[in-house]
Amino acid sequence: DRIARFDGKANGGINSYITVTPERALAQAGAADAARAAGSAGALTGVPLAQKDIFCTEGVKTTCASKMLDSFISPYNAEVVSRCDAAGLVMLGKTNMDEFAMGSSNETSYYGAVKNPWDVSRVPGGSSGGSAAAVAARLAPAATGTDTGGSIRQPAALCNLTGLKPSYGRISRWGMIAFASSLDQAGPMTQTAEDAALLLQVMAGHDAKDSTSIDHPVPDYRATLGDSLQGLRIGLPKQFFGEGLSADTGALIQTAIRELEKLGATTVEVDLPNSGLSVPAYYVIAPAECSSNLSRFDGVRFGHRCDSPKDLEDLYKRSRAEGFGEEVRRRIMIGTYALSAGYYDAYYLQAQRVRRLIKQDFDAAFAQCDVILGPTAPETAFALGAKQADPIAMYLQDIYTIATNLAGLPGMSIPAGFSGGLPVGLQLIGPYWSEARLLNVAHRYQ
Ligand code: GLN
Repeated sequence: DRIARFDGKANGGINSYITVTPERALAQAGAADAARAAGSAGALTGVPLAQKDIFCTEGVKTTCASKMLDSFISPYNAEVVSRCDAAGLVMLGKTNMDEFAMGSSNETSYYGAVKNPWDVSRVPGGSSGGSAAAVAARLAPAATGTDTGGSIRQPAALCNLTGLKPSYGRISRWGMIAFASSLDQAGPMTQTAEDAALLLQVMAGHDAKDSTSIDHPVPDYRATLGDSLQGLRIGLPKQFFGEGLSADTGALIQTAIRELEKLGATTVEVDLPNSGLSVPAYYVIAPAECSSNLSRFDGVRFGHRCDSPKDLEDLYKRSRAEGFGEEVRRRIMIGTYALSAGYYDAYYLQAQRVRRLIKQDFDAAFAQCDVILGPTAPETAFALGAKQADPIAMYLQDIYTIATNLAGLPGMSIPAGFSGGLPVGLQLIGPYWSEARLLNVAHRYQ
């Protein structure tokens, strides 16, 4: 009822859902009631959840917010969806996003922009903007997101939520439509760290169907939430507090550091000397991988097909030109160029070398500290349309988040207060497999 009342695009609503699935939800809710009556309910049995429309859902439209997949009904469930279903979570629907997860404002969606519930003239962030707006507007208590360069953390920051991108390999990517396979990772978007711990518990774990899923034990994420922060060493990268960070955001982050010190933490300055190269390296690697992944959308097996093609080449060309939006086409062109003969070494290989340096910077920093702390995004939610004509300004929204994906590390955004009435996010980054530690710090701080 709340979704019907507040979300409809036609009546000026938030537009956080692309598809609402009441019948599926009622069936799951009925099963949850039965499980509870039988005494077999788990912690999340019967709890509603919104799934980002990048996760394949059997029998349900799965669009990735692209015209290309506007009529695609998935024949199977993503592993994340199967696990959520098995835990008794009740899927309310599929959330809006940037087309194929490319963007930082949710404005590249074929289904229209999403409004930030805190100020409906502003963006919710992206690409998981629909998930963030749905949770912030209380149209779902929790949602799934995916993060290739910041797409869980930045919208969480702009909508005052807790969002966690786990270590690469922690959550199965099977059935999660690929953007940049070596960077994509799913995660929870919730109101609190405790909720994030509960949802991560369901999502995490080895899956033989995903060859990049890692067989590493999944701890009880809730068990350590209350642990003391006495002696916690917080690393503050000088590169995260320089030029480009809004003064208000910087001040709120400093306040948060003082709070954590009161809880027993100490701080140390750390150096991430190559962090300035993370955005340029990402915008070679991510488009390269996307150009390869998106080659499957050829108008033949599934997806949009143009009317009356002359021949096979015409079918490919027009189906793709009509099915993909402007940002997706831009990425495919950049990626195809970067991978082409004669340019591969100069761009792609070079970017992969930079990626290694960025990973080494983090390794050195984590010899001095347990978690790294900084801002999630350089500014608060900006006006709808403000950056649409300027791709570089949009790409710079992820300046503090992208390095984490390049290094495969877990990162988290938690609410740090408000500036001019708009939420500000605080980012925590940890070494591989430190999700429980990040959740513990977030929980104690909250
Ligand atoms: N904003 C970045 C991009 O457009 C990251 C997106 C994401 O994490 N999916 O590629």
